[in-house]
Amino acid sequence: MFIKSFKLNKKIIIIILSILLLSSFVAFYSFATNEGNNEKDKNSFIKWVDFNVTAEALKLTANLDISSHQNNAENPYNWIELLAYLACKNGGNFKNFKKSDLDALIQKIENGETISDLTSNLKFYDYYLESYSAILGQFIGNYSIEVPSNDNSKIFENRYGIKAFLPIAKNYNFSHYDDFGNSRSYGFKRTHLGNDLMGSIGTPIIAVESGIVENLGWNQYGGWRVGIRSFDGKRYYYYAHLRKNHPYSEGLEQGITVKAGDVIGYLGMTGYSIKENVNNINVPHLHFGMQLIFDESQVDSPNEIWIDVYQIIEFLKQNRSEVYQSNTKTKDYSRKFDFMESNLSD
Ligand SMILES: [Zn+2]
Repeated sequence: MFIKSFKLNKKIIIIILSILLLSSFVAFYSFATNEGNNEKDKNSFIKWVDFNVTAEALKLTANLDISSHQNNAENPYNWIELLAYLACKNGGNFKNFKKSDLDALIQKIENGETISDLTSNLKFYDYYLESYSAILGQFIGNYSIEVPSNDNSKIFENRYGIKAFLPIAKNYNFSHYDDFGNSRSYGFKRTHLGNDLMGSIGTPIIAVESGIVENLGWNQYGGWRVGIRSFDGKRYYYYAHLRKNHPYSEGLEQGITVKAGDVIGYLGMTGYSIKENVNNINVPHLHFGMQLIFDESQVDSPNEIWIDVYQIIEFLKQNRSEVYQSNTKTKDYSRKFDFMESNLSD
């Protein structure tokens, strides 16, 4: 009896031990694969984007996207998909872009091929789609904007189209050239990570896209500057060298929401000084920059991704915000036509 029960106990012990061993294997395996996944997620974000899509390619694809949506096409075009396809074909270099490249793609789609068929074997399609979406994802879509009505007032009109604005207010002149990557020597030797828009002091500066004011105040390089983050967190817009004494529009402060097309400040020549409110920039201009953020570790690090916005400025010339002097005392300006989009709630 004693021996028998011992044998039984031995059996039970072996079973228990095997279960324990098996479960610890399972636990270890799932831990290991989980770790693997986390490791992959941690490093799988995009590290670099070279943006050189020409204004012409932006305009042509945007027109296809907008007109197909306005005409309620069964399968409307998505301009970012079209651009990502073209980027696969030209290796991400649009310098030699020809309209016929786009026409050939449109012909294929009109013959019944879908973008997913056409791109399923393109190795870098997902990369271009994700990077271009991070840049242009909120430039086109549904929005409402005030328009003048018959009785001298304004009414909101719903539209599908370009809802990003040029950073220089309508009816104000500016000039620029592609100065991205030029060398700068103030402080330390570095490259220029934006586009300088030369204009007159006091020119109202416009928010290109809706977002949250993330940084505002004096910065040794940028002078009076404002940094605005898009709602999806992927774009950080940097507007610098704003006007001495009166850099910002009324009520602009850190943490508030601004709408695309709002007046955020005034063009000036502040910066290149540790001391605040100093005009050390030679030529009045707005420094406009766009940083891409795929992972928060890229925000303030040697791995920041700033893109060349020259072609984007050229593209946005067709959508400018009209302003008027809304406060004669403070000489502040406001937008003339209000704007709404689904990202905003008021
Ligand atoms: Zn600059």
